[in-house]
Amino acid sequence: MSRFSRIVWQGKSHYCLAKENQCLLLEGDPFGEWKETGQRVPWEEAQFLSPVETCQLLAIGINYSQHAEESGSSLPDAPVLFIKASSALTGHEQDILLPAMAPNEVDYEAELAVVIGREAQAISLEQAPEVILGYTCGNDVSARDCQLRLDKQWARGKSFDTFAPLGPWIETELDPSDLRIRSLLNGQVMQDARTSDMIFDCMELVSYLSHCMTLNPGCVIMTGTPSGVGFARKPPIFLKEGDVIEVDIEGIGTLRNPVRK
Ligand code: ZN
Repeated sequence: MSRFSRIVWQGKSHYCLAKENQCLLLEGDPFGEWKETGQRVPWEEAQFLSPVETCQLLAIGINYSQHAEESGSSLPDAPVLFIKASSALTGHEQDILLPAMAPNEVDYEAELAVVIGREAQAISLEQAPEVILGYTCGNDVSARDCQLRLDKQWARGKSFDTFAPLGPWIETELDPSDLRIRSLLNGQVMQDARTSDMIFDCMELVSYLSHCMTLNPGCVIMTGTPSGVGFARKPPIFLKEGDVIEVDIEGIGTLRNPVRK
């Protein structure tokens, strides 16, 4: 079992293996050649980055039926693809910043994120596992006013800086088909579902998307969120300064982010 993470250490970013509360620094990266340098950084001293610096950050809307219901959407016949800007990526324990131009309706979305390890073009379902490096926790942070009322599409509302926390690491040995996925806001469970409830599972998404475009190493696919998001609650709940939002996925771990102005 390998858990690849990326941290800042002595002013530089490094890939590392997360093992027993230590980060074992690597030379190279998990998408190509790598080896351990022998340097170890205690967990508490590491500043976590998004485990990928990707240029393809793909996301799927409406991929859990109960979330479709709470959003007033019908079930899709094919995956609903949208794209987040990779400039929105951030890491475990880093702040989610409420954007100055849209601070009032910022919402969380716990999502299982697939990380592609090898270039994939028009691959079959059976080939999908071979191109996947692993899985990490993602939060598809969304400014609902922009997404649902102000803009005709989702790019801005989903792409403000820090709106794509990923981490804390990429778990490479994991069967993604039936994992418990939760979000917790200030310790209180807001979303609690299983990945087996997905309308299109990870392999279907990877195969389908590889027919839409070439998936490059480091590409991240956020696979959609279950029900329990803030905007669909009565009354709605949005993130505010001082909150802590966590995404917890069975077999991976917990991605934790404080919220700041
Ligand atoms: Zn989402």
